[in-house]
Formats: sequence, C-alpha cells, structure tokens
Amino acid sequence: GAGPGDPGLLTLRAWSLLQQADAVVYDRLVSDGLMALLPADCSRHYVGKTSGYHSLPQPEINRLLVEHAQAGRRVVRLKGGDPFLFGRGGEEVAACREAGVEVSVIPGVTSAFAVPAAAGIPVTHRGQSRQVTVITGHDAVSPGGLPADLDWAALARGRGTLVVLMGVSALPTIRAGLLGAGMDPATPVAIVENGWTPAQRVTTGALDEIADRARERGVESPAVIVIGDVAGHARP
Ligand code: SAH
Repeated sequence: GAGPGDPGLLTLRAWSLLQQADAVVYDRLVSDGLMALLPADCSRHYVGKTSGYHSLPQPEINRLLVEHAQAGRRVVRLKGGDPFLFGRGGEEVAACREAGVEVSVIPGVTSAFAVPAAAGIPVTHRGQSRQVTVITGHDAVSPGGLPADLDWAALARGRGTLVVLMGVSALPTIRAGLLGAGMDPATPVAIVENGWTPAQRVTTGALDEIADRARERGVESPAVIVIGDVAGHARP
C-alpha cells in the first residue's frame, strides 16, 4: 500500500521493501513523488487504470507479477492507499500463490479515512458518528441508469458516516438513491479531490444540492465523498 497522494504516508516497512525491489508494478494513484524515491536500477511497470479505460486487464497484471517473480526478481506491487480496499489486492495475491510465488502484504494508509482527514474531517466523532461505511460508486449505476446492487435503504438508515470512493460520476445516482430511501436532504456532504497533494480541493454542500455543486465546480476523480454530520468539519 502506497497511501494516498503524499510519499510521507508510506509505511516504514513498505519503504524498506521498495529499497530492495528489482521491479515495481504500479498504478495511476501512486504519486510521482513516490516514484521519484525508488532505487534508480529497479524496473518500473505502469499498469494503471483510469475510469472506464483499463490500460491492462487484470489477468495480464497477474501474469506480469508472476513472470517477474519467477524470473527471480523481487517484485513490489505498489497500489494507491491500502491494497485490500477496492484495490483487487486479494485477487493478485491469490494469482501469485496459485503460481507458487511467495507474497507478503504490506497495508497502506487508505484514502477512505486519510483523505477526509486531509480536509479536517474525522470519519467518526464522539456524539456525531459512531459508525462508518465505505462503499464504491464504481458500479452504482446499472445500464438502465438505476442504482445497482447497493442497499440504499440500509445506507440511508445508518446514522453514521458514509464514505464513497470512485463516486464522482455516480454522484447524481448516489444522491437520488439516498434521498429516495429517506435520507435527510440537509445532510452535510464534503467532496475531497486529490487529497494530500498540492491540488487538493474541497467542495461542500447539502445532500440535495451537492451533485449540482460538484458539476458547477468541475469536480473530478480521484475524490473521496463524505456524507454525514462529520462532513460539517470540512475545511477548504
Ligand atoms: N485502495 C485505495 C482505493 C482504490 S479505489 C485506497 O485504499 O485508498 C480509487 C479511489 O480512491 C479513487 O477513485 C478515489 O475515490 C480514492 N482516492 C485514492 N487516492 C485519493 C486521493 N489522493 N484523493 C482523493 N481520492 C483518492
């Protein structure tokens, strides 16, 4: 796990393994600042995906990892945030183990909690939220434009914090799903783009107006959306 945005959020263990790497296979959300700190002689393989466009299909990524490892190289698979939160880390570990490649998993600071924090938002807060749910907006829209396999009623009923990753394009659907399930239209929402980078930007508004506000401001991925009272702590 590379953590979000800033290389300073890497763990010491991840750092030490990176110094010994022969090959680094990395994603779009791994910062340039972190890539600049890799040993000069390690090979770099970009397999990043951008929304709607897969530069390398998952089986190819798995194959690349296995091939490098079987050639005797020490391979680091570097992923933004934590590898096991919407990172397909579990699939890659399984593919390596199936091929007899030894793997150790080094967790990372996840954007789900650290990006809200970058904007001053605690995802739980005494007296305000004692529950936090993390969802992906990636598949929130089914082909008919209807909210897909998310349980909107349960999400709207939960009185804690809702954190949405990969949610920018699904924002109108998320808004409609939650309002349709009875969530208070005045619920505070904060969207944090490019957390922990110089381009960090925070957009706030009530649930019923947030999709319009995001469109007006041209909000783009990567961004973390925080829905719930704690979003009221957001600092610009
Ligand atoms: N495994 C990653 C999440 C991968 S999904 C983690 O634990 O953080 C990719 C999504 O993460 C993005 O669409 C965005 O919602 C969020 N994200 C990651 N880095 C971010 C950053 N620096 N600023 C804002 N959002 C970020």
